Amino acid sequence: MTKLIRPVRGRVAARWSSLPAALRAPLVRVGPRLTVAFLAVALLLPLIGLVAIREQHASSLRAAQIEAQNVAEQVAHLVTQPAGPGQPLLYQQPAGLQQYVSRVNRDGNRDLEIVGLNRRVLADAIPANRGRLFADDRGGEVAATMRDGRPRAFRELNVDYPGGIELMAVPMRAAQNKIVGAVLLEYTPLYRQLLAGGGETRQIIVGASLAGMAAALALGYLLSHGLVRDLRRLTRAADLLAAGEGGARAVVGSRGELGDLAAAFNSMADRLAVQRATLTELAVRDPLTGLHNRRSFSDRLNAALSRAGRAESAVSLLMLDLDHFKAVNDRHGHPAGDQVLRTVAALLVRELRGVDMAARLGGEEFGVLLPGIGHRDAVAVAERLRAAIARCPVVHAGVTIRVTASFGVVSRPADGRTADELLARADDALYRAKRAGRDRVSGPPRPPQPVQQ
Ligand code: GH3
Ligand code: MG
Ligand code: MG
Repeated sequence: MTKLIRPVRGRVAARWSSLPAALRAPLVRVGPRLTVAFLAVALLLPLIGLVAIREQHASSLRAAQIEAQNVAEQVAHLVTQPAGPGQPLLYQQPAGLQQYVSRVNRDGNRDLEIVGLNRRVLADAIPANRGRLFADDRGGEVAATMRDGRPRAFRELNVDYPGGIELMAVPMRAAQNKIVGAVLLEYTPLYRQLLAGGGETRQIIVGASLAGMAAALALGYLLSHGLVRDLRRLTRAADLLAAGEGGARAVVGSRGELGDLAAAFNSMADRLAVQRATLTELAVRDPLTGLHNRRSFSDRLNAALSRAGRAESAVSLLMLDLDHFKAVNDRHGHPAGDQVLRTVAALLVRELRGVDMAARLGGEEFGVLLPGIGHRDAVAVAERLRAAIARCPVVHAGVTIRVTASFGVVSRPADGRTADELLARADDALYRAKRAGRDRVSGPPRPPQPVQQ
């Protein structure tokens, strides 16, 4: 089975891919596909309605034919009986036969015509036709019935009835079953009556077909519209997320599978946002002390300098380095040194304002950014920090360790306007503090200020 199907599928796929892209593109989209499917269903419904109406017409015709054949056979039987005891057969008495046919036509509203083997009209609902040559047998059905004895139903077109009249011909048999003529019965009124009786059913069929068609079209539109809209929203959210828009989420109207897909997408986006925040945090933090790292410090320094450049305000920068830290490690061990670094970091955070920023620049070297603070105040802050570090005992494994730090202080704009200039000047100032004996604050060398009188 699969062997048979595969080549067919292969051929279909080959034909499909040989179609021009402009033709293929709309057909692989969900919206047009759904529209085509629902359109097909919508057209199928009136088609089914048409078939039902045709079937109803056909069954009305069949019912009318059965009824007409019954009546015609009864007439054929009656007219081949003697009119009374010792009398000739009715069809052999022209006056009696015409009387009978006229009565049936009057009382039973049946349009009868009785034709002899010689195709002369023996009696007719219109008495004037009696004796004329029977002419309404263009298809030869009456002649055929008189020949083979089989009843026939047929439609005769004539000038008075462009829609045609429905006729039933049955053989008229005398003694020894000999065919002596035919009885013709027009049953158009009966057929029309039956058709009219089914009018309500037809209205229901037409109404139901049209309503079904409208419902299928509306449902198709609503479904495909909602589905396509939600798929577009999902695609857009995914595109935004891929483009780095971390807050992009999919909001869809559908429940079910599409709703689940959107929920799965959103929870994935949430997890990504958390991971991204964690990674960002890791990228800017020093793992030992929890302070910002050198790169983050440099970013913040640049941002503070450009803000200060616009506002023409001051920015100060402290650079501090623990004194003889190598000796701390050597004497108390590396873990004790780590504990000193953590304690100094916590002290810096505690002593600074929320807008200030402390960072570990590397080893036992720290940087402090003081936005909006001029040189004189920055020196005061450095002094306060220096004294606090010198005062702060670090207890590790039952041993109390004391450390001091040296500070270099620089300020924008006096000592530079760029981050590189300020960092280099701060490094120089720190070096001077070390050379001057450590545990002190030093600034860059400045020309002596003129003494004001
Ligand atoms: P100075 O007063 O001139 O600054 O002398 P110093 O000993 O502090 O300077 P030096 O540069 O000679 O030594 C710095 C030491 O800091 C060397 C290194 O082992 C230590 N150190 C750097 N990073 C860490 C760290 O993360 N943990 C510990 N415990 N020690 C560190
Ligand atoms: Mg040092
Ligand atoms: Mg150092």
